[in-house]
Amino acid sequence: MALRAISKKTQPYNGKVLQLKYKRNIVNNNNQEAFESAVRTMMKSVGEDPEREGLLKTPERVFKAYEFMYGGYKQDPIEILRSATFTSSNDEMVLIKDIELYSTCEHHLLPIIGRAHVAYIPNGKVVGLSKIPRVVDVFSRRMQIQEQLTEQIAEAIMEALNPKGVAVVIQARHMCMEMRGVEKINSTTTSSALRGLFKKDQKTRSEFFNLINAPQGNRY
Ligand SMILES: [Zn+2]
Repeated sequence: MALRAISKKTQPYNGKVLQLKYKRNIVNNNNQEAFESAVRTMMKSVGEDPEREGLLKTPERVFKAYEFMYGGYKQDPIEILRSATFTSSNDEMVLIKDIELYSTCEHHLLPIIGRAHVAYIPNGKVVGLSKIPRVVDVFSRRMQIQEQLTEQIAEAIMEALNPKGVAVVIQARHMCMEMRGVEKINSTTTSSALRGLFKKDQKTRSEFFNLINAPQGNRY
């Protein structure tokens, strides 16, 4: 790994101010009644009877499921990352592979199921490892498109940690392509967001892609 040598020459991320568009939208949850009534309307519109026994409690369950699936609007990813940063002289790549990801597409509100691989190169600060999957969850639990999700994870890490580089790759299946629309099953969409050294330095980039493409091998 030649990162140590490279890092001397490369300017760290300059911390240019990013619009924290993902910080907005603190939702007010006092609208449960309206929500449930909307679910009943949807049921009726597809030909169901929301008053039949099996469906009576469904609107409430859907409300609770939505609260969870879209809980990301109430969380600040920057705060989560900054709450667990530690000073460190480590400047080698930190990679968290195969982070399970469940999101929904903003066009159909249907599931996006996949994995995220996130790497960064510290610049004086490291973050508690569990915070990276949490940030993936925060952005996944919003209405998304995969490309934007990928970018937002990378930007949040850049902003919170000011590392020498960040790389995020997401591989996912989109239920809006499988259950409806083109009905293509077994197609995977891959998106990536590379920042800092991962963008500028070929070796760093190859190392990252080799690591995420390496076969799983034995789990330990
Ligand atoms: Zn969709």
